[in-house]
Amino acid sequence: MSAYYPTMGLEVHAELLTKSKVFCTCSAEFGGEPNSRCCPVCSGLPGTLPVLNQRAVEYIIKAGYVMNCDISRFTKWDRKNYFYPDLPKAYQISQMPRPVCLSGHVDINVGGEQKTIRINRIHLEEDAGKLVHDDVNRISLADYNRCGIPLIEIVTEPDFHSADEVIAFMEKIRLLLQYAGICDCKMEQGSIRCDVNISIAPKGSTELGTRTELKNLNSLKAIAKAIEVEIERQEELLDNGERVIQQTRRFNEALGETTAMRSKEDAHDYRYFPDPDIPPIVFTEEELEAIRQSIPELPEQRVARYVEQYSIKKPDADLIVSDKKICDFFDEAIKEYDNPKAIANYITGELLRRKNLGEVDMDDLKFTGKEFAQLVELLQTDKVSQSNAKVILAEMIQNGGTPKSIADAGDLWIKEDSDLLAKTVDEIIANNPKAAEQYRNGDQKVFGFFMGQANKALKGLASPKAIQEYIKKKLSE
Ligand SMILES: [Zn+2]
Repeated sequence: MSAYYPTMGLEVHAELLTKSKVFCTCSAEFGGEPNSRCCPVCSGLPGTLPVLNQRAVEYIIKAGYVMNCDISRFTKWDRKNYFYPDLPKAYQISQMPRPVCLSGHVDINVGGEQKTIRINRIHLEEDAGKLVHDDVNRISLADYNRCGIPLIEIVTEPDFHSADEVIAFMEKIRLLLQYAGICDCKMEQGSIRCDVNISIAPKGSTELGTRTELKNLNSLKAIAKAIEVEIERQEELLDNGERVIQQTRRFNEALGETTAMRSKEDAHDYRYFPDPDIPPIVFTEEELEAIRQSIPELPEQRVARYVEQYSIKKPDADLIVSDKKICDFFDEAIKEYDNPKAIANYITGELLRRKNLGEVDMDDLKFTGKEFAQLVELLQTDKVSQSNAKVILAEMIQNGGTPKSIADAGDLWIKEDSDLLAKTVDEIIANNPKAAEQYRNGDQKVFGFFMGQANKALKGLASPKAIQEYIKKKLSE
């Protein structure tokens, strides 16, 4: 047991899903040839004037609402001055005293327990460019495509005391931002990134220890590991009677250690002052209300709808909603075949099972929710057997195609051939006189044995219902 208690706060940066950048009309899409999506404004040439992207402002207001923040009626932008090669202007347009969103909260669930994380603020700023370090030639290259992509920074209060809580929070806001249509939250592409401020103090102490900041963690795995090793590092320092120094640290995933980048700056180091090029904004109640009304259905509302309207079990509903792609797929499927429960079961039982095995990539799916619904309908109405439905699904995953065309091509339909059924079952019963005797003497358990044998022999040619009825009839003769 550790003698220390960790405390953490987060700064989460999320890139907004606008078409253009925040102060110019360059494309805000991810990637592209280096320096192909730049103009004099986002490359910071003298004499250019930024123009604020209205959509970006709408999105940050939505972010504020989904995180239960107060939206400032008056907001303005400031210059944050610092020199770094990824920032050609040598200042970032950000917000200091008057951010768009203040004091919100997000509820998380950790190990079955609900906990509220307070949000200090959310502000709108511009992203910086990207440096590509070439260790072989010992040079660094600058790509300014990312310069000026709208970014929101979500700052939490120091309400976290374990890596699990941090992960639960990141997963929660990822879902909220995705469902609200604000950010795609692709950690691997850096569209959502997390800095963790972390300190430890002796258990029972009411004072916080000196904090360090872990910069730009870009996977949940990296976040959990970085927190673990940084806590250990700080504990070792305190155990040895040394001090934790306030600094910004980088996590090296390959080595599993954090290393010092620089001493942590305070706000005054940035010499913030109001940006004279961007006029402040005053929102009217009507404007804010219109934006609030335009927020789509959020994850918790979807879960509630599935449970109440469709009688789907809560854990299954949670599972479907935990991935927006799956959830949209489900919504599409139930439009085609009005049997949400059967579709939900087949998604959680078959599709997600295969997804977990790595067989299914929701970003590159070869069939639609509509086609998936058709397959579930064929199964539910005894047109194909359980095992052949799996064969059809496997083919849809591999090569696409409608369930009907695949069943035609592979001759996978249930034939309901009563002669074949009778002949097959009669043979099985004749070959197992002992089991038949047991059943007639009241041992219901052997019925399953006969079902299994018949299913195997008939290979999906008869429906389970027909087989069941025939065996029952035959055994009670
Ligand atoms: Zn530009």
